[in-house]
Amino acid sequence: MGKYNVCSVVILLCLLLLQGCVSQPYLRVYGDIPAGTTVSSVNDLQHLIETYNITELFLVTTDFTAVSTCTQNLSEISLVHSKNVWYSTSTTLPRTINLKDIAFIAVESDYKRHQIALFDGTDRQQHLSAYERIKRDFTLVGSSARDEQRISKYSRESFTFRYQVRADSVLVIFTSGRERKLSQQEFLESLTFHKTHWTMESDTLTIVWENFPTSSIYDIYPLLNSQSLAKEPMLLIFVDGLGYNMLENARVLGRAGSFRYFEFQPMRTVFPPKTRYAYFAVGNGKHLNEARRLPHAQRRGIFTLFSDLNISSAYIIEGDRVFFTSRFPIVLNTDRNNNGCIDDEIFASAVQHLDKEFELLLVHFHSIDNTAHEHGPYAERTLQQIETVSRYVQELKSKWGRNTIVFSDHGLHSSGFSGRHGTNRIEDMVAIMSSLVMEN
Ligand SMILES: [Zn+2]
Ligand SMILES: [Zn+2]
Repeated sequence: MGKYNVCSVVILLCLLLLQGCVSQPYLRVYGDIPAGTTVSSVNDLQHLIETYNITELFLVTTDFTAVSTCTQNLSEISLVHSKNVWYSTSTTLPRTINLKDIAFIAVESDYKRHQIALFDGTDRQQHLSAYERIKRDFTLVGSSARDEQRISKYSRESFTFRYQVRADSVLVIFTSGRERKLSQQEFLESLTFHKTHWTMESDTLTIVWENFPTSSIYDIYPLLNSQSLAKEPMLLIFVDGLGYNMLENARVLGRAGSFRYFEFQPMRTVFPPKTRYAYFAVGNGKHLNEARRLPHAQRRGIFTLFSDLNISSAYIIEGDRVFFTSRFPIVLNTDRNNNGCIDDEIFASAVQHLDKEFELLLVHFHSIDNTAHEHGPYAERTLQQIETVSRYVQELKSKWGRNTIVFSDHGLHSSGFSGRHGTNRIEDMVAIMSSLVMEN
């Protein structure tokens, strides 16, 4: 009896598996959408359209015929699953919408999390979404209209899509924050497109960078570590939010203030280009995402600033909050004179601390980032703030007169009349660094 039971279970499992292989009562959805999305009816699709603000649909058959339509037409399309084949039909739209054996649907939407950015230096960029990438394998054959509703028909190209990478080597940055340098050939061979995102070495890709800035925010921590700070103390000036493009813009307009006396280099920052991540890289030489993945036992002392640095005295001059704790004093400041800015108080506090004994003094100015968020990175108000902070930085540097590193954590890009950062945009990713360090 037991034997029969085993047999019937095995047969049942086989039938279930077979059922799974032959019949797929769902359609895969690709393009600008989370990986693994499927639909099994027009209603499901309508739900996705609302969730991700989908504007265009691209229906592709197993023989690589495709049609595109705007989502307004969806209510007039029916998706039918019959005898293991998906059909699209409509009685009101042009006949080209009638497809047999649909393989997948691609969508264009506001979900751009997995688009890749191609940078060819420090200012030019191109973003490629999964939807655009899918469509580039097809050519437009023609389009037909009926009652002003347009359906475009496509067929598959015989050539394969080429990424326009010209440099001999590229830097790739993954969404995890990991970076890797590759030759052009290695890059083209190991890149895989999954119809919703790109991977390499099973990590999701976000930036492909040709002619990338050689200096990186990850260089700061090893530089501090290599110096004998007991003999030659260091002033580290952290200018939050001053992107390379913002500084160049100010320079061109003659508005860089005292920053014109500095030799700033473009410096690539961490991904995502956010203050916490950059600060962590400066204070630990590590990436925050990797540190967060550490087992608890190994986390001791990691989430603090300068924990491994071979120094015995330091001060951190901050605004009104602590980003990471430290074994060294963090001096907080508030807007005591109520002028809407804390950088004047931070400056005064830094001047006082210059006279104290220390091996490292970190001064974190915040107002350029705040102003650029509020008014935009290239706004008049932001230019004024760059000039103001430049005077603080210049004054600190000349009062100190010894080893100084000035750096920023990221830049900002325009978004309407304000500014943002944290994405794979070149304006966010290129920060600045100027270092005046004597050998010792
Ligand atoms: Zn910042
Ligand atoms: Zn910010």
